[in-house]
Amino acid sequence: MSQEMPTFLGLLLVGTVENAREAVLAAKRNGARVGLVPTMGALHAGHHSLIRTARKECDFVVVSIFVNPAQFGPNEDYTRYPRTLEGDMAMCRGEGVNVVYFPSEETMYPPGFATSVEVAGLTNALEGAYRPGHFRGVTTVVLKLFNIVPAHAAYFGQKDYQQQTLIRRMVEDLNVPIDIRVCPTVREPDGLALSSRNVYLSPDERRSALALSRSLKLAEERLRYGDRDVAAIRQAMLDLLNSTPHVKPDYATLIHPDTLEEVSQVLPKLVAVVAARVGATRLIDNLIISDL
Ligand code: AMP
Repeated sequence: MSQEMPTFLGLLLVGTVENAREAVLAAKRNGARVGLVPTMGALHAGHHSLIRTARKECDFVVVSIFVNPAQFGPNEDYTRYPRTLEGDMAMCRGEGVNVVYFPSEETMYPPGFATSVEVAGLTNALEGAYRPGHFRGVTTVVLKLFNIVPAHAAYFGQKDYQQQTLIRRMVEDLNVPIDIRVCPTVREPDGLALSSRNVYLSPDERRSALALSRSLKLAEERLRYGDRDVAAIRQAMLDLLNSTPHVKPDYATLIHPDTLEEVSQVLPKLVAVVAARVGATRLIDNLIISDL
């Protein structure tokens, strides 16, 4: 290792590219299957489930924590995004993580940095339309992480449906030798998808935020009851959101699971997707609806 690395009760905290790569290559030399869980920290039970799946499928697990400035727009919450390294480290230790990779902004974007990766087409839909540049920031940092932490498998959440679609596309198109694993969305008992941004919600907004998962359930119920009027279902989702205090939808619609295009008729498998502002907090959610 190029320099002394701090440990937190046996869990290695690594900040440089060289140390991260060296830790992974050493594990690989010992025959370990290595799993990577990329995160922005403020870890919650959604991240937990990714880490647990990685633990089950791999011998050596790296969690990266990097609040990536390149994926935040100028008026977004980069500066106030929750940063809870100590709690995150405790959680990772409890889950048997081997290494936490916590690079500085300088390490990820040194002076002169000029390259980015963009997945054409898929990037422009849905979130891409509301967050210009967001996915270029995501795919660029994720490819960097794959190169810094040369794992066998990387774990992502279905919660960010478009993100995992783009990453799978990028890995296939660029022949990146890594297995992309997607884990189901973890929800609160009342249905709210866990998100690091939920901490921004006031108690009133927290109640209103349920409208997102409810709009997805509403779409699923109507489809299961045999409703085939996609436009009417879309409108019902929007009506539910618009009639909830504090909630302003950006979109609520049904899309093709692979192309992410809005569908005009019911397919055997669809994804209901929603994005809305709840007060000042922008939340997203989705539900895969199959066997239709
Ligand atoms: P983030 O820290 O928000 O960038 O998320 C890191 C990873 O955790 C991403 O792959 C997310 O899709 C995943 N994730 C976030 N929230 C959830 C959730 N509620 N359930 C499952 N995975 C999640």
